[in-house]
Amino acid sequence: MSLLIDQLRPIVGQQNLLSTAADVLPYSFDGTPVLHQRAACVVFPTSAGQVADILKVAAHEGVPVVTRGSGTGLSGGSVPVAGCVVLCLVQMNRILELDARNLTIRVEPGVITQKIDEAAATEGLFYPPDPGSQKISTIGGNVAENSGGLRGLKYGVTRDYVMGLEVVLADGDVVRLGNQCVKDVAGYNLRDLFIGSEGTLGIVTEVLLKLLPRPAARKTLLASFHSLEAAAETVSAIIAAKIIPCTLEFLDQQTIRCVEDFSHVGLPTEAAALLLMEADGPATVVADEALAMERIARDHQAIEVQTARDQEEAARLLSARRSALSALARVRPTTILEDVTVPRSELARMVAFVAATANKYNLRIGTFGHMGDGNLHPTFLTDERDTDQMQRVEQALDEIVTKTIDLGGTVTGEHGVGLAKKAFLKQQLGDASYRLLKMVKATFDPHGLLNPGKIFD
Ligand SMILES: Cc1cc2nc3c(=O)[nH]c(=O)nc-3n(C[C@H](O)[C@H](O)[C@H](O)COP(=O)(O)OP(=O)(O)OC[C@H]3O[C@@H](n4cnc5c(N)ncnc54)[C@H](O)[C@@H]3O)c2cc1C
Repeated sequence: MSLLIDQLRPIVGQQNLLSTAADVLPYSFDGTPVLHQRAACVVFPTSAGQVADILKVAAHEGVPVVTRGSGTGLSGGSVPVAGCVVLCLVQMNRILELDARNLTIRVEPGVITQKIDEAAATEGLFYPPDPGSQKISTIGGNVAENSGGLRGLKYGVTRDYVMGLEVVLADGDVVRLGNQCVKDVAGYNLRDLFIGSEGTLGIVTEVLLKLLPRPAARKTLLASFHSLEAAAETVSAIIAAKIIPCTLEFLDQQTIRCVEDFSHVGLPTEAAALLLMEADGPATVVADEALAMERIARDHQAIEVQTARDQEEAARLLSARRSALSALARVRPTTILEDVTVPRSELARMVAFVAATANKYNLRIGTFGHMGDGNLHPTFLTDERDTDQMQRVEQALDEIVTKTIDLGGTVTGEHGVGLAKKAFLKQQLGDASYRLLKMVKATFDPHGLLNPGKIFD
């Protein structure tokens, strides 16, 4: 161990290396409950060159490396493995170039997601992916998880904005994949292999992102319903009316009550479901779409539809959804967040199944999520010290995930496989695809040192 640390110290400097048990402890977790493991040390490189040197030392010593951004991941991706080096990239946090002529921004991996959109806005540009964690997550973590967000329905996910990557490979080689060209079909698309690879194939040390013109106008609406079915049917009717809102989010009653208790937004706590809807684009189109969505919600027996009058009110309504996880997390000591996604046509059925499973196992589950893209977050409010309850949680989780696969869905829509979902991956992919995935891993990381034990064993 001291041999390893003696080799890492000259690379990053004493001030960028933690090795005492107390200093390393906070890096034993990510945002996933129950999972934790202490690392041998934590290093904070400040350049791709340093990352390469660290990987060369790790390869030479046969020590695993777990890359980390802000540690907000919800599948255990940045939870250390025993004896590993944690490579924390938060100090590589510079915005390198905002190119308004090519509509791109080049950033280091430790840049906080929201800062990218704020920088883009200074040139009238827009970076759409907005995970609920955007105030704290890093773009490196977003790329590694291919994160989604509240605007995914209209604008897609992180992958849709990544034009180029600089990646340090397991042996310390540095490669550049992709470029500023809008079209490029030279060779296999290796860049895309690294998006969503959860730190298992290489370390992202620079990201080139596509930007869009900033939408001129935006309107935010909040509709409440007596039943989950009415909310789900409203979503289907909005899509059938050929409206693609930038946001179409859903909260169930359990979540509504927790959010109201937490943030006092003025939500109707008797409602069975809330839909948060947002249109953006040219002002006249936005006005028309907002009116149409309001009409559709009322046609589906909405109890009330509020339209934000200004940006401040819109932010207040949006905070109802953005604070959902934090609000639910206050209720019980352990919050276990699911991330299942089903085809949109199966949403109502899935929501009903989650509610029935909660009853069957006598568990508290609050469900919220990105209703427009079929991604639900059933959230178990539990206590990991209660072993009987945790067994029931495990059974319920198993049934929810199996049902998801049966309905043609996926075990993770945006949080990644990590440690949390690896038991289900083969079931979803089938033997042949699963084998291909392992061959990719073996090609890029033949000695299995990059985030080992994540995605698969
Ligand atoms: C309150 C809350 C709300 C959230 N809302 C959303 C949401 O709406 N949508 C969504 O998709 N997720 C959401 N998340 C999950 C999480 O924020 C995302 O997965 C995010 O992308 C993780 O970023 P991070 O910087 O915290 O990465 P970490 O958690 O530190 O790491 C995540 C994974 O990426 C790898 N990694 C990190 N940086 C790099 C790099 N530079 N190179 C290679 N691998 C790397 C790690 O090894 C790990 O496997 C939420 C989390 C919280 C706590």
